[in-house]
Amino acid sequence: MRQYQLYINGEWIDAKSGETFKVLNPYTEEAIAEVAKGSREDAQIAIDAARKAFDSGIWSGLPPQRRCEILLDIAERLAAKQSELIELETKDAGMTTRMSSMADIPGGIGQFRYYAELARSVPFYEGLPPMEFPTSYNFVLREPIGVCGQIIPWNAPFLMAVSKLAPALAAGNTVVLKPASYTPITALELAKIIDESDMPKGVVSVVTGPGSTVGEEIAANPKVDKVSFTGSTEVGRRIMELASSTVKKVTLELGGKSPVIVLEDANWDVAIDGVLYGVYLHSGQICVAGTRLFLPGSIHDEFVEKLVAKASHMKLGDPMDWGTDMGPLVSAEQRDRVEGYIKSGLGQGARLACGGARPKELEKGYFVEPTIFIDVKNDMKIAQEEIFGPVLSVIKYSSVDEAIDMANDTIYGLAGAVWSEDMGRAMDVAKKIRSGTVWINEHHMIDTRHPFGGYKQSGIGREMGIYGFHEYTEIKHVYMDLVRKRESKLWYGMVCSG
Ligand code: NAP
Ligand code: MG
Repeated sequence: MRQYQLYINGEWIDAKSGETFKVLNPYTEEAIAEVAKGSREDAQIAIDAARKAFDSGIWSGLPPQRRCEILLDIAERLAAKQSELIELETKDAGMTTRMSSMADIPGGIGQFRYYAELARSVPFYEGLPPMEFPTSYNFVLREPIGVCGQIIPWNAPFLMAVSKLAPALAAGNTVVLKPASYTPITALELAKIIDESDMPKGVVSVVTGPGSTVGEEIAANPKVDKVSFTGSTEVGRRIMELASSTVKKVTLELGGKSPVIVLEDANWDVAIDGVLYGVYLHSGQICVAGTRLFLPGSIHDEFVEKLVAKASHMKLGDPMDWGTDMGPLVSAEQRDRVEGYIKSGLGQGARLACGGARPKELEKGYFVEPTIFIDVKNDMKIAQEEIFGPVLSVIKYSSVDEAIDMANDTIYGLAGAVWSEDMGRAMDVAKKIRSGTVWINEHHMIDTRHPFGGYKQSGIGREMGIYGFHEYTEIKHVYMDLVRKRESKLWYGMVCSG
């Protein structure tokens, strides 16, 4: 079994308490790693190290070119370990090897490279309109914010760790990262690689341990300047509350209940598969999963029939097997939660078109079958709350305006999709969906260069692209008097008339 300590101030150390916790493979239900269980005290030590590293300027004071070289070197080391990372991610998170090798790991490495390049290419100076009287030169300096606390979820552990670390480091900040307790392994492997690089000590610490202690300390500690969190909306609210005591900057990437609106003229050939991909990728444990499907009454029955036929043939099993379409949920608790929602759907009058149970042929692993509910009303719990499992709620509509109204009738606003052959109509719907991303005839397409984030209670701020980089910078306006004569001062005569 793999053993991991805390990575604090460039050292691998045990938790102060000496405690550890076990990390399970959700397919075998067996422990694959033993990890140090950090506490508030461990988090404080890491934060102190990050504060000292930031204030000393050992990282932010390096020429951007040098920061870029160190980050690119880390990206190359990650690339050299790609196949090991793919295997570890699949075993830790239960994501299929198809997903970890086509999206999560290479996506994360690509993102690391992208931000490494930005470290030297983004202008840290931006000119402002000059003032003629008094004659002055005005510009913006983009500076790092300082110590950044970063807390991530379990669904795409490596990609999430990179989405936090890479832009923060590229902008010159120091960081303390807390991985999710279900899936800490690839973030700790990333720490190993950072440790082998020329990254100065204390710039990056990775502290594993419970959200209720390590996470809360990161969000509340006065030495932390910014907290960046990805996870549930419920915990996001708590983070904001804790961060408010010292008015920390916050970036929140929270939950979603993304609508998928199929118009009558959609190309079924692609839309059927697209809808299934939208909801069942990673067993539905994706924040942008398309979990509410809006269908016009005219095509509802036939469309559902085709969806059910395909969903029922999805192959569940060992995520390490290239032939597996859907792996297990991350934990027994998560499976219980999903089953609770299935019960609630039935209790509120929705009907199962398929799934709803554990697959009989699999004796171990936290699986739930691909599930489709019909006769769903938009105010049912299964249509309003984030389930984070393989459950699709199908809702009938009679006009596109009604579909849009229902699509927007949610506290969330992370993503949405529209399927239609008429680009004009699709664009019209896309504009009316209140969310940070809308796909037209697609789902899940996220690119390192494109902004990602939520409207409404799906979050604050943006990640990815230059937008994500700027979330880690402060804007300083510098005013430089170019004349330096008393008579040329605006205030001359205002207070110093003598
Ligand atoms: P979660 O329960 O909110 O946990 C996320 C992280 O916060 C974990 O590291 C957790 O630590 C920590 N945490 C828990 N309670 C905390 C507290 N009181 N203070 C500080 N930190 C705390 O979310 P999850 O179940 O891991 O992930 C699923 C959720 O993430 C879904 O809602 C999903 O939509 C969202 N998500 C959003 C995005 C996005 O970009 N918008 C991306 C992926 C996932 P422990 O693991 O130790 O409990
Ligand atoms: Mg695990």
